[in-house]
Amino acid sequence: MAKYTGADCRLCRREGCKLFLKGERCLSSKCPIEKKTGIPGVHAQTRKKASEYSLQLREKQKVKRTYGLLEKQFKRYYDMAENMKGIVGENMLSLLERRLDNVVYRMGIGASRAESRQIVNHGHITVNGKSVNIPSYLVNVGDVIAIKESKRDIEAFKNLKDVKVILPKWLEFDSTALVGKVNALPQRDDIDLNVKEHLIIELYSK
Ligand code: SF4
Repeated sequence: MAKYTGADCRLCRREGCKLFLKGERCLSSKCPIEKKTGIPGVHAQTRKKASEYSLQLREKQKVKRTYGLLEKQFKRYYDMAENMKGIVGENMLSLLERRLDNVVYRMGIGASRAESRQIVNHGHITVNGKSVNIPSYLVNVGDVIAIKESKRDIEAFKNLKDVKVILPKWLEFDSTALVGKVNALPQRDDIDLNVKEHLIIELYSK
C-alpha cells in the first residue's frame, strides 16, 4: 500500500495543531507544536487570509493525516458515509474510528496509529479469534479484539499493563489479559477530534 513517507511533524505544523502521529513524543516538550515553530515553508509568513475552499481543504487534510490515509482511501469513507442513514460527517468519522488500526491505537496497544497499523499488518491481532492483518478492517459491536496468543510474550505487549490509556467508552481493553471488546459504535461525542467535519462534506459536495 502506498503511504506518506515525509516528516510527520511537518504535517502537524502545516495544520497548526497536534495530529498525534508519533506516540510519546507528541505528549512531550519535544513536540514542535509545543514550541510553536509555525507553518513550514519559505512563504509561510506571507500567506493571505484563508479562502472558504482553503478552510475546507485544511479540515479534510487534518482528518486524512490523523488517520494516515491517502486521498483515494479517505474519499472512500466519505462515499460510504453518504450512503448511510444519519449525518454524513458524523458517519464518516465513525467509520474512520472503526478501522482496526485505530481501534488498536485507542486500546493503547500501539503508541500511534502508524505503529498500530504495523502491529495489525504483522499479524499480531485477532478479531473474534481469527487473525486479521487488514488495518482498514471495520470492527462491529460485540467484536473481541485480542493480541494473538503466540505473540503475547513480546516485551512491548507484556508491558502494556503499565501503560495508562484513556479508553473511549465504546471500547474496553484488559491490558493484562490483552483482550478487548467493542461495546458500541463510536458516536461523534466519543471522537476527540477538533475538526469541523461539515467543511469536509461541503468540499466533497461541490
Ligand atoms: Fe510531531 Fe506528534 Fe507534535 Fe505532531 S503532535 S508535531 S507528530 S510530536
